[in-house]
Amino acid sequence: DGPFLSVTDLRVRFTTEDGPVRAVDGLSFTLERGRTLGIVGESGSGKSVTSLAILGLHDPRTTTVSGRIRLGGREVTGARERDLERLRGNTMSMIFQDPLTALSPYHTIGRQIAEPYRKHTGASKRAARERAVEMLAKVGIPRPRLRAGDYPHQFSGGMRQRAMIAMALVCDPGLLIADEPTTALDVTVQAQILDLLGELQQESGTAIVLITHDLGVVAGAADNILVMYAGRAVERGSAAEVLGAPRHPYTWGLLRSTPDLDSDPDEPLRPIPGTPPSLLAPPPGCPFHPRCAFPPRVAGGPGRCSAERPELPEGRGAACHLTADQQRAGWSAEAGRA
Ligand code: SF4
Ligand code: MG
Repeated sequence: DGPFLSVTDLRVRFTTEDGPVRAVDGLSFTLERGRTLGIVGESGSGKSVTSLAILGLHDPRTTTVSGRIRLGGREVTGARERDLERLRGNTMSMIFQDPLTALSPYHTIGRQIAEPYRKHTGASKRAARERAVEMLAKVGIPRPRLRAGDYPHQFSGGMRQRAMIAMALVCDPGLLIADEPTTALDVTVQAQILDLLGELQQESGTAIVLITHDLGVVAGAADNILVMYAGRAVERGSAAEVLGAPRHPYTWGLLRSTPDLDSDPDEPLRPIPGTPPSLLAPPPGCPFHPRCAFPPRVAGGPGRCSAERPELPEGRGAACHLTADQQRAGWSAEAGRA
């Protein structure tokens, strides 16, 4: 019956005053139940746009989406708004960086968790209220019956994120999309929230797409990783492969600039020189070539990187003209140079 979520050749294009922007340009991946896929990249790489397209939350007046998204055997692309609304919350759900954008300041936390449950299951008010208390307990809110009567401003940042997780999971969705779920939190609370997501996933078998700019976040939480750059996937593999033996020069740069994975706290961080390209006028060939130090090593000469677009192979691999051997040797040299 195939993977739980499959995204095939997804393309998302915005119409702007300055012209069309290819925010996502031919993205494919799959995700099984109970597994976590980390999508990693800088801001503007297309990761959040991808999640909005999966949820059908893009603005149809300014955004064109093509390709194919299938979830639990159902077609999401081209689905009517009514069907999408049923899918959202029920089958797929989302948590964001800032719970205050998702939580209403005017209603109690308990009510905001109970409402979607009532809407999707037709449960009675009383049953939904019980369910909300149960969910608050599940996400580790102490004295959940009492706290269900609180408003969002009465919760700390970490507790609000827990409440949003409770809201997202109240209908037991098969897919949870978590977009920078811990970015606004301090490191200790970050780790607690990631642990909580992992525990809830073990219980329920939810598939999770974890979107982040921070390789440290996916290191402990993701089974597989997709690295995005300028609207394209540039590397894919298991978390161990991508973090332990990265193949793409962009991933090398990301790893060098991630403090959490460095064992030596005195080692200076080296940010990737340059900035991501404008998606209004993306560079030809490899989108990373203006920032890459390796075109001179490519067979066929450096001109190949600025002319010929490298494809991402199926399964483990990188979208780069360096040979697999050069990629392996390249990372050893990079790691050794530190
Ligand atoms: Fe660098 Fe060329 Fe590989 Fe792109 S294709 S990452 S420019 S070596
Ligand atoms: Mg984002």
